[in-house]
Amino acid sequence: MPKIQQLSASVVNKIAAGEVIERPASAVKELMENSLDAGATRIDVTIEHGGAELIRIADDGCGIAPEDMPLTIASHATSKIGSAEDLFHVRTLGFRGEALASISEVSQFLLRSRTRDADCGSEMLVHGGNVQEAQPCGCPPGTIIEIRNLFYNTPVRKKFLKTTQTEFGHISEAFTRMALAYPQVHFTLKHGTRLVHDLPPCHDLRERIRIFFGAEIADQLIEVESENDQVTLSGYVGNPRFSRSNNRMQYLFLNGRFIKDRALQHALGEAYRGLLLHGRYPISFLRMSMPPEMVDVNVHPTKLEVRFQDSGRIYSQLLGTLRTKFLSSDLDATYRPPG
Ligand code: ADP
Ligand code: MG
Repeated sequence: MPKIQQLSASVVNKIAAGEVIERPASAVKELMENSLDAGATRIDVTIEHGGAELIRIADDGCGIAPEDMPLTIASHATSKIGSAEDLFHVRTLGFRGEALASISEVSQFLLRSRTRDADCGSEMLVHGGNVQEAQPCGCPPGTIIEIRNLFYNTPVRKKFLKTTQTEFGHISEAFTRMALAYPQVHFTLKHGTRLVHDLPPCHDLRERIRIFFGAEIADQLIEVESENDQVTLSGYVGNPRFSRSNNRMQYLFLNGRFIKDRALQHALGEAYRGLLLHGRYPISFLRMSMPPEMVDVNVHPTKLEVRFQDSGRIYSQLLGTLRTKFLSSDLDATYRPPG
């Protein structure tokens, strides 16, 4: 038997990177989450060659003090939780302290940041997990992270990258989810020299939906809202006449996080039963919020899936809210809800 040995931090981070950073879009998602957790009101995303060459995220959030910079890339180092007890009350998007450790292990990574009360900023350059340089620099308050040559030292992963267009498609989807979840934040997205989106802050989710999916979709949406014992549901669902051939236009946000949940997708489908033809899917942009104690987000490394304490109750609330709404809505006469 070979001897058992403790893996080095570098190997541990590469393994974590395999889980958390599947492709450039995963890095974009993680960095945007960090900016939002830092209280940013503006987030600028710049991409080159589908993210394989460059991912740059600049925010106007709280910034990072120079002495904390090395810790940002240490694994399991986070400013967001401090104890096991905190895990049950997570109010931030991040808490695992893994993303920057993973990303900086498999890229050429530059962190430039300045806290609001500092006279100047600091920058730290990291190559494949090794800090190359840390020094003062000029920069506005906030944080800029640049990731170059993602996966340059993990050739197998690099080989799995698809075309520039496909990778940018995934980035664009990650960006869309974030922009829909936070309409009050100003976001921009640039690919090469092309400014793909410039989304000034707005108060109504419908405005963002209009920008991404067009007026025809946005204007027919049915607004829904309900509250039941600390669980609130709000947002929009599509008129049955605007169904889709797949479920890709179903957006569900839980406490500001885009999630996928089979049971809730099922509830949505049930609500439209009798309203849609077989093989058609409703459109939805739904936001749920509940006390963090009622949901475990520590289920999946990318946090795309969560576990509800009482999923039956959430299921019934979604189904009940939509059914009630449909009964009182002026839906197309050919699509009468059953019962
Ligand atoms: P997590 O988000 O789970 O805490 P990360 O690896 O994503 O872990 O980030 C590590 C730490 O770096 C964060 O806890 C935070 O303190 C700091 N950090 C990362 N990005 C930013 C940012 N854009 N602005 C301010 N602080 C940041
Ligand atoms: Mg994070």
